[in-house]
Amino acid sequence: MSDKTSQNSECPICAKPSDEAAKPFCSKRCADIDLGRWLKGSYAIPGQDGEATVPANDRNPDEDIIFRDED
Ligand SMILES: [Zn+2]
Repeated sequence: MSDKTSQNSECPICAKPSDEAAKPFCSKRCADIDLGRWLKGSYAIPGQDGEATVPANDRNPDEDIIFRDED
């Protein structure tokens, strides 16, 4: 019994029968999708990703000039 179709496990991404080479996924592509979801989930910390880009955009170059003029 070495027939891979005898395995009852299915891909957690697309629910196709999983492949021997890419268990528990059906293909490397689905394995990458799962990894991508996992990484995205750990990066998507609410509030942190959005706020990080605000200070750089909020800064006004003109204020720097005025500050130097006072010196
Ligand atoms: Zn799949």
